[in-house]
Parts: sequence; C-alpha cells; structure tokens
Amino acid sequence: MAELPSSVRIREVGPRDGFQNEPETLPTEVKVRLIELLGQTGLRRLEVTSFVRADVIPQLADAEQVLAAVRLPPEVSVSVLIPNERGLERALRQRECFHEVNGFLSASETHNERNVGRSVEQSLAGLRRVFARAGAEGLRCEGVISTAFGCPYEGHVPVERVLGVARELAGAGAVEVGFGDTTGMANPLAVREFFERAAAELPGVELTAHFHNTRGQGLANVVAALEAGVASFESSFGELGGCPVPAGATGNIASEDLVSMLAEMGIATGIDLAALLDAARAAQEALGRPLGSHVLRAGPVDWH
Ligand code: ZN
Repeated sequence: MAELPSSVRIREVGPRDGFQNEPETLPTEVKVRLIELLGQTGLRRLEVTSFVRADVIPQLADAEQVLAAVRLPPEVSVSVLIPNERGLERALRQRECFHEVNGFLSASETHNERNVGRSVEQSLAGLRRVFARAGAEGLRCEGVISTAFGCPYEGHVPVERVLGVARELAGAGAVEVGFGDTTGMANPLAVREFFERAAAELPGVELTAHFHNTRGQGLANVVAALEAGVASFESSFGELGGCPVPAGATGNIASEDLVSMLAEMGIATGIDLAALLDAARAAQEALGRPLGSHVLRAGPVDWH
C-alpha cells in the first residue's frame, strides 16, 4: 500500500456549505460567533461565506456583514465562494478581509445548468475572468468542481471530462482544484483511481477532496484519497450542509469525524478535536436540533 501523507490540510466549509443549506437563516451574530469558535480550533483554512445573489441563497445574504465582523487568528486563511464576476466585485469591496477565492462550477452540463443557469463553457469563461482579476489582487485561487464523481441528473461523469475541466481551471490560474462528490456517488475504488490519475495529469496543482456522506462512504473515500496521495480535504463541522437531495439526506463529512479518524491514524491536522467539538456543540445549540456528526454523539476515542 502507498505511504499515507503524515499531515493533511483541512478547509472547514461549514459556515458556507452548512449555513446555506439550513432551512432558516441564522442571525449574523450567531454565524460570527460560530466562525470565531472555529477559528480557535487550530484550523488554518476556513470558508466563511459565499457571494452568491441574495435572492438565490438568502441564507448567505449577510456575506458582507459576516466578513466584516469575524475576528480570526492571523494564521487562518479565509476564503469566500465566488460564483461569477459580479460576486467577485462585491467581495473585493472588502479585499482586506479574505485571502482566497473559491470559484465553482459543475462537471456535468445538466447540474451546472440547473445550479447556475449557465453551460459549463460559459461558467469556465466567467471563472477565467474571476481568477485573472482575483490573481491581480493577490488572492489565491481555488477552482471547485461539483458532481466530480457523479451527477444526480446524468449519472456517471467521465473522468476525462472532470480532469479536462480541472485543467482549464488550472490554466486559468487556480493553484488548487477541489473535487466535490456533490450527492455522495463516489466509492473508494473510483476515488483512488481518480486521484492517482489527477495527480499524474495535474502536476503542481493542489488537489482537494470534498466528500459527502450521503450514503455513508465519506470517510472510506477519504482513506482512498489518502492512499492516492491527496493531502487536502474539505469538511463541515457538525456534518452541516451538503446537498440535501433527496430531502433529508446527509451532506458533508463531519470535520470532527475526519479529524478524529486522522488523529487515530497518526496523521496530523493541527486541529484540536476538543475545541472543534465545542464549536459543533455550539452549532447544535444554535440550530436547536441534533447534528449528524458521529464523534459529536459518541465522544472522542479517549473520552473515558
Ligand atoms: Zn459539500
């Protein structure tokens, strides 16, 4: 078996991927408090919000206010999700408040069309301009590809197609490309083969895995990605968010479950599990319902 990385980078995406999928909008001050708790866990990468149109995702209509209010340690790299040039222009009015932009599209035409009302080629053209402008502002650019391991409308998405989109993003200035298993269709064998091929075809690009636990295979997919050499992951505290299709399905892998597993495997994340559990517990209280994270319910391995 391949040697696993000794440490990995985790980007916490709960404040964006999680909060945007809550049926009710969390008050801005609650979001800010939860984000600041996350900032105390030792994590180094945090996606705090998204500059999508407020009428599309009203839950994140307070992007400006959240970004202006959060106080985070200087070592935390703050990212915002950007759908298009208009979103970037909004974000740039607060250029001093963040370090990275994550520009997204889907690998499958149907999902992209339904999600953002554009063809994949139109989205790519927009992201080329977004990354050029963001790069000129000194921002680090990540391209995020949804439905990389399967599309709820089209089914299997060919690897060549996903890697073709990734190459376009890298060519447009993305130094990191994230691959999202949007509706939990990946399996460990497909994941390992995919990332082995991605590493060979995208040298010098940081490859990030964004798995959903829709069908309970999220952490198995993480291990498969580790075996292929992936050392960058995205997850969400409390298992918040993801794509609730079909209704009630779970979404992102829980950051606590990921950090706990990696710690038990001897892989460093820099994240303090107890502090992360405090943040997840606070989210659970704020939302008033039990969250899906396993470690939140069971406690850490050394709980006794
Ligand atoms: Zn997600």
